[in-house]
Amino acid sequence: MKEAFIYKEDVDPFYKNLKKDYKVYRVKKKGPHYVFGEALDFWDPGEEYIPTILPPKKYLQPQEEPLFCMSLAAKPSLKPKIEAQPQIIFGVRPCDITAISQMDKVFADTNVDPYYKARRENTIIVGIDCLRPCDKDCFCSSVGSLDVKEGFDLLLTDIGEGYFVTVVTPKGEKLLKDFSTAREPSKEEKEWFLARREQRKKEYPYVFKTELANLPLLFTANWDHPVWKEMGDICLACGRCNLVCPTCYCFDTFDVMAPNLKEGERRRQWDGCLLNEFAVIAGGTNFRPQKSQRVRHRLNRKFNYQMTKYGQSHCVGCGRCYRACLVHIHPVEIANRLAEGK
Ligand code: SF4
Ligand code: SF4
Repeated sequence: MKEAFIYKEDVDPFYKNLKKDYKVYRVKKKGPHYVFGEALDFWDPGEEYIPTILPPKKYLQPQEEPLFCMSLAAKPSLKPKIEAQPQIIFGVRPCDITAISQMDKVFADTNVDPYYKARRENTIIVGIDCLRPCDKDCFCSSVGSLDVKEGFDLLLTDIGEGYFVTVVTPKGEKLLKDFSTAREPSKEEKEWFLARREQRKKEYPYVFKTELANLPLLFTANWDHPVWKEMGDICLACGRCNLVCPTCYCFDTFDVMAPNLKEGERRRQWDGCLLNEFAVIAGGTNFRPQKSQRVRHRLNRKFNYQMTKYGQSHCVGCGRCYRACLVHIHPVEIANRLAEGK
């Protein structure tokens, strides 16, 4: 079954059945914000939704995790410590699905990351489609991350009485078969799905003042543009933009030793290129000491370096960095300053 239909009232039993065999996470409300977490019942925030504070990457690359245990006893040893359990992330939106498919490539590149790989192989992604922009700060469609084709197992699109389900992996197909009452969609349901997908196009205006494909060259050509100093002058170097971004994946490692200094663990935790110490190397040299250099680096990672390497914008347009930034630094505004030569 490559497509299916499930009535809205049947999603909660589906969700609860999944919880019998898997750890299941979904979007929850937390004060005025949304977060991913565990919950007893299914709930879809629908059109109210705005991106969660942290993206679902926290289940694939946790904020902090052990890498290996070490023993310095008579016979020194190192033992990898890979923690991965079967999990389902339910209700992932297209921007975050795109980010996950990008992380799948990044962590499987020249050096496969066994920690990410183990978690990813144990993870099933059930997406929920967006039919309108979450708020004025998201721009997923402009960076090509709204119409997702990979990075998920099932994608639910609200078509009124129920969800049209796009099935892309055998894992997703088996999940539907074993845990849900989904059935083949009717011709009308398929038509309604296609019509809603078509309708949504006009809801998402294109936000850049140049074609998306021009961004890498534009960023290269504007290495010395005054916008970098202006942004560097106001940036607080707090790193919030890094931490909330679904495509920022840098980490730092450190050792934690037991009091006897004979045993310990090497761990890693998220790091951020906007933080002052990020580019400090042995000997104490900081090769990106100015905030203007760090803002420029981060934006070049999204719209230039990674985009050139993978052929796809590595900003997925979720708007999280802008919402989190206390001085309102917006990636689109920077790109448009460069495009307009202002
Ligand atoms: S750079 Fe900002 S808008 Fe783009 S993916 Fe990261 S957090 Fe989202
Ligand atoms: S969130 Fe804003 S102020 Fe903080 S480091 Fe990022 S760009 Fe600078």
